[in-house]
Amino acid sequence: MRNPAVTSGDGAAPPSRASRTGTPGRVDGARLLDRIERFAAIGRGKDGGINRLGFSETDREARTCLAREARHAGLETVIDAGGNVLIRCPAGNGDRPSKPRVLIGSHLDTVANGGKLDGAYGVLAGLEVLETLNASATDTSCEVTVVAFANEEGALFPQPFWGSMVLAGRVDDLPSDPVDYSGKPLRDALALAGGDLSDLRSAAWPPGSLAAYLELHVEQGPVLERLGKPIGVVDSITGRTQFTVVIHGEPGHAGTTPMEGRRDPLITASHAIIAVQRLAREEELCRVATVGWLEVSPNSSNTIPETVRFSVDLRDSSAKRLAAAEATLSGALASVANRGDVRISVEGTIRTDPVQTDDRLREAIAASAKDLGLAYERLPSGAGHDAQVVANITSIGMIFVPSIGGVSHVPWENTAPDDLVAGADVLLQTVLRL
Ligand SMILES: [Zn+2]
Repeated sequence: MRNPAVTSGDGAAPPSRASRTGTPGRVDGARLLDRIERFAAIGRGKDGGINRLGFSETDREARTCLAREARHAGLETVIDAGGNVLIRCPAGNGDRPSKPRVLIGSHLDTVANGGKLDGAYGVLAGLEVLETLNASATDTSCEVTVVAFANEEGALFPQPFWGSMVLAGRVDDLPSDPVDYSGKPLRDALALAGGDLSDLRSAAWPPGSLAAYLELHVEQGPVLERLGKPIGVVDSITGRTQFTVVIHGEPGHAGTTPMEGRRDPLITASHAIIAVQRLAREEELCRVATVGWLEVSPNSSNTIPETVRFSVDLRDSSAKRLAAAEATLSGALASVANRGDVRISVEGTIRTDPVQTDDRLREAIAASAKDLGLAYERLPSGAGHDAQVVANITSIGMIFVPSIGGVSHVPWENTAPDDLVAGADVLLQTVLRL
């Protein structure tokens, strides 16, 4: 980490530590809910969707707002070279800065037209926990730091998990001079956000500097809501295999080319897409399999297409099962290509291994929920999170709260207020247990 680029001192008087004692049981739920609503107004579009694409102007506004609120709460903020916002107590909790720290947080950026909770909830609940600890002068055995990771979604600059990769020291896995979808350099956007592309390595946390990372997040799926349980103890974060399938056929006139002998890549694509779905549905080789993007060229109503490209996204909590699913699909693609007399290739394969959460942290989360009288369920995370990247350098734990209707990445993404507060209470109690 670099020295503070942003520090306290905007006029707010931090509460005096001497006057406060005692171990807090709960967070200030009203303060948390109010903060979530105020942050939801940053980047909100006409239809209620939130647009805070990583390193955009609205994203910067949210980060500035976070730093301001932290300072008003008497906390210190730092922006590292990767653009991550880090918040800590002025003197640490219990004045033990030399001990490994507990990191809690998530991200503030959103997808285009996304929801108010994905990411922001974990950051604001982290701030709420630290504010509660600081106000009660609680002596935790590890110093607690809150993080808002930069560009988790990768919605503008297609480098998802940017901030967590920098913090985890995986700078060599990132492009050296990234650009956004329109070709604008990340270097400039990062500088505006307080980071420095030429100094990324300074933001890596050395081995042993972290005792644990805890991330509180909305489930983004239907499991907890269906079970009627407010707390999820995440046991693993899904592994993922992504690639693009490219099918080359023979273009032709839709009116004059006889059906016999056509080499139509879109027909082959339709069979291939069914084969993708079959991997999860009938063959149960992986948990879910999705084709979410397709491009037809030349995409004209009276022309047999020449080329079709589509995405494949396979997810499972076992790397072995993912490999088996990928191999099966490769066989199925060869067979449909043969049948359609077209050529198929696969491009840009990215394999992300599944990550297990830490036993001890799972126990601590479950025990905290139990103490608070909250029902919980163990479940895997089907979505990717910064936690899976931070797992490169420390043990991780994740807490979920229910998503109403099981939906996320949409303007109506929501969670019941009581569940939002319950999740933050569990985060606080889990931190106190570590
Ligand atoms: Zn998220």
